[in-house]
Amino acid sequence: MILRVALDTPLRRLFDYLPPAPGAPAPTLAGAPVEAAPGMRVAVPFGRQRRVGLVVEIAAASDLPLERLKPAYELLDVAPVADAKLLALLRWAADYYHHPVGEVIAAALPKLARLGARAVPQVEWWVTTIDGEAALAAGEPRRAPRQRELLERIARDGGVDAEVLGAERPGWRDAARALVARGWISSAEVVPGTTADAAVAPEDTLAPVAGAGAAQAAPSAGEEARLLPPRLSEAQQAAVDAVIAAGEERYHAWLLHGITGSGKTEVYLRLVERTLARGRRALVLVPEIGLTPQLVARFAARFATVPLALLHSGLTDVQRLAAWRRVLSGEARLVLGTRSAVFAPVPDLGLIVVDEEHDASFKQQEGGFRYSARDLAIVRAQALDVPVMLGSATPALESLQNVAAGRFRRLSLPRRAAHALPPTLRLVDLRQESVHAGLSSTAAAAIQRHLGAEGQVLVYINRRGYAPTLACKACGWIAPCADCDARMTVHLAAQRLRCHHCGADRPLPRQCTVCGYELRTVGQGTERVEESLAKMFPQAPIARLDRDVVRHAHELEAVVGRVASGEARILVGTQMVTKGHDFPNVTLVVVLNADQGLFSTDFRAAERLAQTIVQVAGRAGRGDRPGEVLIQTEYPEHPLLRSLLAAGYDGFAEAALRERREAAWPPFMRLAALRASGTAPEAATGFLAAARRAARPPPDLRVLGPAPAAMARRAGRHHAQLLVESTDRAALHRFLDGWLPEVEALPEARKVRWALDVDPLELF
Ligand code: ADP
Ligand code: ZN
Repeated sequence: MILRVALDTPLRRLFDYLPPAPGAPAPTLAGAPVEAAPGMRVAVPFGRQRRVGLVVEIAAASDLPLERLKPAYELLDVAPVADAKLLALLRWAADYYHHPVGEVIAAALPKLARLGARAVPQVEWWVTTIDGEAALAAGEPRRAPRQRELLERIARDGGVDAEVLGAERPGWRDAARALVARGWISSAEVVPGTTADAAVAPEDTLAPVAGAGAAQAAPSAGEEARLLPPRLSEAQQAAVDAVIAAGEERYHAWLLHGITGSGKTEVYLRLVERTLARGRRALVLVPEIGLTPQLVARFAARFATVPLALLHSGLTDVQRLAAWRRVLSGEARLVLGTRSAVFAPVPDLGLIVVDEEHDASFKQQEGGFRYSARDLAIVRAQALDVPVMLGSATPALESLQNVAAGRFRRLSLPRRAAHALPPTLRLVDLRQESVHAGLSSTAAAAIQRHLGAEGQVLVYINRRGYAPTLACKACGWIAPCADCDARMTVHLAAQRLRCHHCGADRPLPRQCTVCGYELRTVGQGTERVEESLAKMFPQAPIARLDRDVVRHAHELEAVVGRVASGEARILVGTQMVTKGHDFPNVTLVVVLNADQGLFSTDFRAAERLAQTIVQVAGRAGRGDRPGEVLIQTEYPEHPLLRSLLAAGYDGFAEAALRERREAAWPPFMRLAALRASGTAPEAATGFLAAARRAARPPPDLRVLGPAPAAMARRAGRHHAQLLVESTDRAALHRFLDGWLPEVEALPEARKVRWALDVDPLELF
């Protein structure tokens, strides 16, 4: 028997080992030793190190001669931590993204599990030995009452958990040591529930999951109403009925296209409820900053008695391990998580939901393994033969094309739930207006009006900090980042200059570093907008939402709380304000500047801008009163803004898809980007040029580049990319299969960091 093991290394292969030698530490289940099986972790010798890997296959033979194979040190699991279906998904992802399978599997496991932490929390179980029983029967030990009591206690129930002993008799370990020395008692690490006395299998040794406790606290009076599910609107009911009619135990991919505030979440809740009622589990994926306290509270309030696990990037390693264990054991029946939760080992998974499926955070864009959690959710649902529902008010053009091609079925929620009307959108021509601190007189008057009518106002600006530029009044010097092709942003309150690309951070200079003259700030960020609004509307308390004021979930909770309670009347924020919040009293939304993104070189920029505008506009008028949206621009005639205002997101999307087809961009073309960066200016382009020379593209495939990134230098590294495109997906992957090993072997590869990005989201 040969174990074929995936290890966290950049090598594109599995590693063969013999099973652990007899006498190696071996896990047992109900007293019987466990045999290695696919999906279990093993500790193995790798070079001079001890590494933890995952058994992917059991083979009868190895390509290597048997005498060269080493035995694994130790089997670490009593049951697979990735079942056959999950393992298949991981191997599929490794193939599709052309990434080493060991690193793919590593990305799916919490760090502590990768280091060998037990998948099932173990208990330290104490039992008496045969000699111990005999000693007890003989009335020993006579002169050590504490030892005698401990021996009796351990014998009483046939064994006892160390935690119980610790609680009952502090200081027991001294007595235990003495009894061990006499050979009368012994201990072992065991899986709860497998001991003689299952009654003490300690549920409570499971560490609580961060957030879940708070989320499951009793709902406040305002949320109480939500415990009672609302009557579904006709469109919501039709959506739920369509899924039921298609068969909830079958794979179908649904695109729930509902305008903002149309009640998509309510549809998810009903489908989740039905899934749980069938005894299966549900996985709900949300964007990186979508896992808000509000959303969690809604799920937790509806499923008050259902154990919930949250998986997101804010967890500590220990919390992540605890959450993963609760998922793996099946204890958690509902899993809410961000990107990497698509790999959560949920047993008997019956439904996958991807909320805000257009969100860029579902795509891993850093590091080596760059995957799309949305796309993998589809693949996973297909393999499990269960429904998957993607929801958005602004679906990705790819998803709309999947509907057109018959791969997804669209469900529409064209109206807002609870009688709210969609907001009215209006462009404000900045060239025709007097503008003060970025705010037009029209917008200022509207803010005054809405505040006067007891409404709340949301001001969106795509930039944090005080001002994006610090310039000299005399010589025109502009504060640059030393390591990026970018300017430093002024953070006035903190008295710092910061680079938003590399994180460089230094004190705010008092005068020009070149000529010594006075400096001025140019342009606005959230901090400055907050300052000028405070001057213009001194009566209205302001809340700000951006990454400078909100770094942790509890800070987000505090800001959201101030707005939800009505205490703050104006909310100023970046992208963060566009996501999922439901503030029924916001009646006016002002988009300060829509113009960044109108003229980008990235073919997806228009789509992203349209999505942002529609999403932020969707925060207006969610309650009883109608909403108004003002979009400030210097290009009111721009076709994108025109089509968006005239025909809504649907109209925009139709026009944008037509353009994509004509220009042969995705989804009508398959792309992969080979990206590289190096410290020497020519390293990346040199490597990519060599990669291009090594390529022998078939006739239906093109290799383009290398081209430097739009911002070529970032954090002191020079970035460039090579693009591979084909209309034929299979041809693209066949090409990559042959080409990548050659790319890897290039001598130039050693001077750069490089990664392949299949289906890249951002081209730079
Ligand atoms: P979306 O996710 O589509 O933006 P939400 O699910 O947040 O919309 O719903 C918007 C608001 O409408 C929420 O306050 C929600 O509680 C409410 N709502 C949803 N469905 C209904 C319904 N059928 N009847 C009454 N209110 C509803
Ligand atoms: Zn920088």
